[in-house]
Amino acid sequence: MSVIDLRSDTVTKPTDEMRRAMANAEVGDDVFKEDPSINRLQERAAEMLGKEAGLLMASGTMSNLVAILAHCQRGDEIVMGDQAHIFWNESGGASGLAAVQIRLVPNGPQGEIDPGDLAEAIRPRGNIHTPPTTLLCLENTHNRCSGGVLTPQDTKRAADVAHAAGAKVHLDGARLFNAAVALEVPAKELVKDVDDVSFCLSKALSCPVGSVMCGSQEFIDEALRWRKMVGGGMRQAGVLAAAGLVALDSMVDRLAEDHANARRLAHGLANIDGLSVDPDSIQTNIVIFDVDESVGVAADVISALSREDVLVSTPGKHSIRMVTHRHVDGGDIDEALSRTSRVVGGLRSANKG
Ligand SMILES: *Cc1c(COP(=O)(O)O)cnc(C)c1O
Repeated sequence: MSVIDLRSDTVTKPTDEMRRAMANAEVGDDVFKEDPSINRLQERAAEMLGKEAGLLMASGTMSNLVAILAHCQRGDEIVMGDQAHIFWNESGGASGLAAVQIRLVPNGPQGEIDPGDLAEAIRPRGNIHTPPTTLLCLENTHNRCSGGVLTPQDTKRAADVAHAAGAKVHLDGARLFNAAVALEVPAKELVKDVDDVSFCLSKALSCPVGSVMCGSQEFIDEALRWRKMVGGGMRQAGVLAAAGLVALDSMVDRLAEDHANARRLAHGLANIDGLSVDPDSIQTNIVIFDVDESVGVAADVISALSREDVLVSTPGKHSIRMVTHRHVDGGDIDEALSRTSRVVGGLRSANKG
């Protein structure tokens, strides 16, 4: 039985073309801005996103932290959705290292933020008792909202409220190209109303390492110093950038396959008694579904699935996350569904007995 790994699209490995590009990459010392491959990747990314400049980062977590450090002062308040990756999954970096406090507003089903909720959360300036709201963080696609997509309008509506109040807007676009492919719009349309954006090369784009942050030249100059401070000043990292350039050329359009596989997966899961998901809500490559009490808790399902060589992750006690990517095809999805059906059926009858 082959292992079907649906834990994350981060498990994707570099392609042969990436490995060749990495082996042959022209490199230099990037702290002196002398790595031609990194310079090329940063320019390419900035151009694709319609921003002035780009900056290679070691990870998405580092990009998000550096964005907060560059936009905010200690004691500021930053606003984000209550399902934000920055809040849930980044080790408390915003408070631990950037010394800001986080204010949460509800995320809608696709990860959107209601402009009214946002306006209410933003603090009036000029009161010494309250922290100034200096940053709004959006996320597209939205990880914990099952890969939901923000449209350019969703982004503009929220960004306009933040900007009117004097706050900046950071977009955690770890899977930004999944959103662009799902909506069939150029990625730059999705980021035109934000001050900076970062996307991951290391997820569905299949690179081994890296994220790229893009924004105005002034912002990137500021971010450069914070990146150095957190230890992200790398040297001949052009070997990584070379894979990134291949990814931007050859890995974006194929994301549509992952999305089709995710919908196929969601339709199959919806037909299994004891699991619930709305397949029509699945826009990209992440499927989060609920586990009914008759089956047990998510942890029971996850350990039973792993015995059947289906690997998944869990965002909560009663929910499971499956992510499609380049290493799983339609046949693997059908196989994962039949193993899941067997496991869930087994748990239900054991619980009845
Ligand atoms: C994966 C992810 C990150 C963090 O990226 P790493 O490279 O794993 O640090 C940030 N935001 C979102 C939405 C993500 O899915």
